[in-house]
Amino acid sequence: MIQLIRGFKDILPGEVELWQKIEQTASALFEDFGFKEIRIPIMEHTELFARSIGEDTDIVEKEMYTFMDRGGDMLTLRPEATASVVRAYIQHKLYAQDPVRKFYTIGPMFRRERPQKGRYRQFYQINAEVFGIASPYIDAQLIFMLATLFSRLSVTDIKAHINSLGCPQCRPQFKQALSDLLAAKTEVLCSDCQRRSSRNPMRVLDCKVPSCREAMSDAPSLSDYLCSDCKTHFDMVKKSLDKLKISFEIDKQLVRGLDYYTRTTFELQTGSLGAQSAVAGGGRYDGLIKALGGSDIPGIGFAIGFDRLAEIVSLNRPDIEKKADIFIAALGEKAQEKAFEWSCAFGITGIQAETDMANGSLKSQMKKADRSGADYVLIIGDKELEQGAAVLRNMTTKEQTEILMENVLESVTATVRR
Ligand code: AMP
Repeated sequence: MIQLIRGFKDILPGEVELWQKIEQTASALFEDFGFKEIRIPIMEHTELFARSIGEDTDIVEKEMYTFMDRGGDMLTLRPEATASVVRAYIQHKLYAQDPVRKFYTIGPMFRRERPQKGRYRQFYQINAEVFGIASPYIDAQLIFMLATLFSRLSVTDIKAHINSLGCPQCRPQFKQALSDLLAAKTEVLCSDCQRRSSRNPMRVLDCKVPSCREAMSDAPSLSDYLCSDCKTHFDMVKKSLDKLKISFEIDKQLVRGLDYYTRTTFELQTGSLGAQSAVAGGGRYDGLIKALGGSDIPGIGFAIGFDRLAEIVSLNRPDIEKKADIFIAALGEKAQEKAFEWSCAFGITGIQAETDMANGSLKSQMKKADRSGADYVLIIGDKELEQGAAVLRNMTTKEQTEILMENVLESVTATVRR
């Protein structure tokens, strides 16, 4: 038997209902904050990700699903969404009337990481991006929106970690101090970090290898190097979060190593998931739109790990599969035909009706009725058809009532909706 690909997974009925609920809760909330949904392709030219995520990142170096298509183009299954949303914003001139635009998108991402609990090779993200707003208020508002989403989903064990990455003016001094430290610690760094320490020293700060983390524990903090504009911006973000009563922690190891990631960066972490504690991450990328060929327009966004969020939500609500409203047990060909007509009629009025199309015995149909979870069973056979009345059985009280054929739709609807 052919199994699914390692690191990929099926989301089965029973779980899907939870995913739908999360999706609906997120889109309703984001729309209330002025975001519009955008749908972008799952494949792009490799160069888009190489340029936006950066050549010397784990994602681009080792994790992308990249291949040459039959026409000779290098294509990549998207490892994240921001690059594509920025591309669409520039390509369709979505800034033309007003550069301020807010988008959200939900869908699968692909990274060839080592699979483990909470880490997949196809995983899903809920992304939000804001273009054209430089104010620190939007940074705080995005974190507030995330915190609100988690609280609407009854996820309480969440903490915001924030940091500021400064800007191209103040970062060089920090990078110099970091490079000096790295030069003294070369021998304890992993081989990736030894290479990175000259090309992109900030990447060493978010390396997950324990010896690198240990070596970086006394690394300088970016917050000591911020220029006055960056400091004012960061202070304002913190003040606004306080005002919104969002508790946060400054985390100096929270970095993104590329020049167009600027100022605020954040992560929402939980204690409920073991090692993979990050449920959402994001930050400001004021240089990205320009780097991808657009104008000098600021940007900020976040990505929620949908799989991880679904897992935390399911800890509170294990199974919310919708059960049938009514089961129609029909005996004999004529009754089956009636059951078929009724089930279609119920379906279009929003009543979920199940029938047994295998024409089983009454006993086997009642078993199926039980499994369907329906509170009521409508029973019809030749006798009922002749008398013009079906039997409605309450599965809990076992009470049975007769209802006239011509009133079946109205009576059943009224009963199950009661
Ligand atoms: P990133 O795009 O790397 O900033 O990730 C944003 C969020 O996506 C993380 O906080 C995780 O919750 C989630 N995420 C990232 N990679 C994976 C993965 N391989 N499997 C599941 N979730 C992931």
